[in-house]
Amino acid sequence: MTAPNETYQAQEIWFLTGSQGLYGEDTLRQVAEQSRHIADILGSHAEIRARIVWKPVLTDAESIRRLCLEANASDTCTGLIVWMHTFSPAKMWIAGLSALDRPVLHLHTQFNLSLPWPSIDMDFMNLNQAAHGDREFAHIEARLGVTRKIVAGHATDPRVVKRIAAWSRAAAGRQASRNLRLARFGDNMRDVAVTEGDKVEAELRFGFSVNTYPVNDLVAVVDSVADKEAAELAAEYEELYDVVPILRAGGPRHDSLLYAARLELGLRAFLMDGSFTSFTTNFEDLGGLRQLPGIAVQRLMADGYGFGAEGDWKTSALLRAMKVMGLGQNGGTTFMEDYTYHLGPGIPRILGAHMLEVCPSVAAQRPRCEIHPLSIGGREDPVRLVFDAAPAPAMVVGLCDLGDRFRLTANAVDVIPSEPLPNLPVARAVWKPRPSLAESAESWLLAGAPHHTVLSSAVDLETLSDYAAMTDVELLTIDDNTSVEKLAKEIRWNAAYYRLAQAL
Ligand code: MN
Repeated sequence: MTAPNETYQAQEIWFLTGSQGLYGEDTLRQVAEQSRHIADILGSHAEIRARIVWKPVLTDAESIRRLCLEANASDTCTGLIVWMHTFSPAKMWIAGLSALDRPVLHLHTQFNLSLPWPSIDMDFMNLNQAAHGDREFAHIEARLGVTRKIVAGHATDPRVVKRIAAWSRAAAGRQASRNLRLARFGDNMRDVAVTEGDKVEAELRFGFSVNTYPVNDLVAVVDSVADKEAAELAAEYEELYDVVPILRAGGPRHDSLLYAARLELGLRAFLMDGSFTSFTTNFEDLGGLRQLPGIAVQRLMADGYGFGAEGDWKTSALLRAMKVMGLGQNGGTTFMEDYTYHLGPGIPRILGAHMLEVCPSVAAQRPRCEIHPLSIGGREDPVRLVFDAAPAPAMVVGLCDLGDRFRLTANAVDVIPSEPLPNLPVARAVWKPRPSLAESAESWLLAGAPHHTVLSSAVDLETLSDYAAMTDVELLTIDDNTSVEKLAKEIRWNAAYYRLAQAL
């Protein structure tokens, strides 16, 4: 079976170089060679999350327009890096940029790092004009309102590579959002406000395709899983995790482990069959499922699936997009919920968890596999993985629907070691939010941001910020630079901006 992560290995970022016919063939040949060299330098960096594909130098409006249309039509092209090696009169970019539907990174660079002062002649000046050629191009981008990331510096500068890499991950996240199919098993939890939302707008804005399936359709797939397959997966659990003796083969509750394995295989088959990359469950609507899915959900998240509990499709979709953005990075990404506070003494901190569903990609140690009663849902005791999240700098991100727009809210946090929790049989994380628990919480509440979140130590703020820009979604960030008063003003200004921007 193919995990959804594996479908993101064929991505391309096209490298475009602008020039014009005026310079003659000799110069254009050098422009081509040198831009290919820059593309090769970028292509040699594994942290840039796509193959860099160099395209022939563009010198006229029609070839620019055609290339932009090709990019739109390509299933593998996630974005364009554009550089004006020489001067490319920018009116020739109007038709192409107006038609373009891919993220743009304007790389403001030049071939040479240093100037060869004694040998500079007018041929050199003609060949190396990015300093003003890129300004001409930037003018038309600004005039057309093209959303773009601008990165200035030499291609060998680590800061340049890091900024392009963040953008490339965001572009992969945008691509994943465009292809995101989400299966909801049941509606969202009754009477809850923040898990509601406009699914039509979500498809327009992000590309999320969100649809509901009767949970008993899933039950039929779960029940049809062969006993032998369930037994094999249960044996795999015993190898991978510290499975408590009562659940092991021969133990008195082994049947529950077999059912948990059956649940995972059924869910996986249902999702694969429908090309879904995200899903939600709701403990209020379990149909014929014998357990609320615990370990199944945890392991599917670890394989790159988005998940939201209580029908929370927005968090599920965000988790999927962030899984893709974090692919190949150190750290993990998980569904999370702010649960309860330690206000003192010592460092004020948050204990986050969920009923069962925290992704083992954030685990500090080999998870234990346990079974305990669950007071809600009214089903058999669910099997779950139990662990602490690994200490790391991380980010907690929420997506909410304000009625007139979506808002992303991100809080920089530090996941720290937990005190022992011998009586809490669920996976959990303990973190210290920045700038402080009080200011973080005041800011988060002011933003109306959700209680369900994505906790990630694999995606950084720059990547998320690039993703928000590409999808044209508001992003509020809460970090060391945050003051609650300034955030209140930003929220008011944003309300005005987004309403004006959508006014007609
Ligand atoms: Mn919840």
